[in-house]
Amino acid sequence: MSQVYNWQLGRDMTYPYEERHPQWQFAFVFNTNRCIACQTCTMACKSTWTFSRGQEYMWWNNVETKPFGGYPHNWDAKLLAMLEEANPGKQIWNAGAAEPQEKPYGTFEGKTIFEAAETRVGPEGPQVAVGYLPTEAEWRSPNLHEDSATGGKWRPGEFSGSSQLPEHRVWFFYLARICNHCTYPGCLGACPRQAIYKRPEDGIVLIDQTRCRGYRKCVEGCPYKKVMYRGNTHTSEKCVGCYPRIEGKDPDLCPDGAPVETRCMSVCVGKIRLQGLVPVGDDGKWLARPDNPLYFLIRERQVALPLYPQFGTEPNGYYIPPRWVPRGYLQQMFGPGVEHAIEQYSCPDRELLAVLQLFRAQRQILYRFKIERGPKVAEVPVRLPNGEEKVQELFNDTIIGFNKFDKEVVRVTIDEPVMQRPKEKHANSI
Ligand code: SF4
Ligand code: SF4
Repeated sequence: MSQVYNWQLGRDMTYPYEERHPQWQFAFVFNTNRCIACQTCTMACKSTWTFSRGQEYMWWNNVETKPFGGYPHNWDAKLLAMLEEANPGKQIWNAGAAEPQEKPYGTFEGKTIFEAAETRVGPEGPQVAVGYLPTEAEWRSPNLHEDSATGGKWRPGEFSGSSQLPEHRVWFFYLARICNHCTYPGCLGACPRQAIYKRPEDGIVLIDQTRCRGYRKCVEGCPYKKVMYRGNTHTSEKCVGCYPRIEGKDPDLCPDGAPVETRCMSVCVGKIRLQGLVPVGDDGKWLARPDNPLYFLIRERQVALPLYPQFGTEPNGYYIPPRWVPRGYLQQMFGPGVEHAIEQYSCPDRELLAVLQLFRAQRQILYRFKIERGPKVAEVPVRLPNGEEKVQELFNDTIIGFNKFDKEVVRVTIDEPVMQRPKEKHANSI
């Protein structure tokens, strides 16, 4: 085992391989406040990559209803229980140790899946990463418990007010998930054949199908359960990050070679998704690029947080947490940055509001943004999560996005323009 630095945990941790980092990292932000569980993303992925024989139960992209849903069933509750069993009562964060750049969420003082593994000794010896192999039944229903809420009982006169902010008493939310193309992947660490690799050019994690022998150690070792076994080929498969699009090699979509976002991102109806690439230094730190939309949301503002950072794989999927959900639940899922993220999202300042307009405004990957200031157009009363009342000033700023070649590819204003078609020309105008 080597020592590697995990910035999400704010400390070194053990990992089976030495520290090495890609030049760019595939990353994404999902805004859970906006997901409507239409499953358009799920079907876009299915119809592109997993529509063949043997892939019937394979959903590289899935959207589950929290707290009860999960694909495979109860994947996160099971992992959390295994970690708690290995380190009872000590799976805690020291949020007081937070430093904005080095340790934005403080320090995680518990055990990661790699550190807890030595306590789980099976017939083949200790595990490389704490994990389990889901049963076939657990893979069967990708959307079990859809729309099932928790938290309250229906009693006359009590139900009203159950959906008051800051926290709803009766609640659920949708969690969209793909492979996180982790910095320290559990799947890669657990593979005894070295069949899994992380690409140096974009950090996408792939399985070499010619080396894979279907031992399913990756299925066991991925804490997010995003590797799936294919029975008719006897190999494991996972999200490939739509790499031809990321490489800019799709002749129809990117004739000039500019990278394009994945299928699941591009189709998102709720406009919850923004995907991109962030530059990474040799030491694994993200190079400071405050005008890169992902860097801005994740590192600069910390409004988007990693999913279960305590697992220790340094996932590259980030989530703007849902505003209405009890904070204890969210802190277990996204770490100690939840209050700060929700506070900012509840009343975004001028710059953050502008960057939020980039979600699904363009399918080319945006490497840089610029904001042109516009006039003040409104004042809106807002109640913050802590109960404080505030007046939010709205400005009709314009946000401009640039692609890999620094060419302007999108321009959006805060105040959405209304287009009216002349009724003499269009029979269906109303
Ligand atoms: S397409 Fe977007 S809004 Fe629809 S389920 Fe997927 S992530 Fe949610
Ligand atoms: S989410 Fe799972 S499959 Fe994807 S890179 Fe991380 S450990 Fe591997």
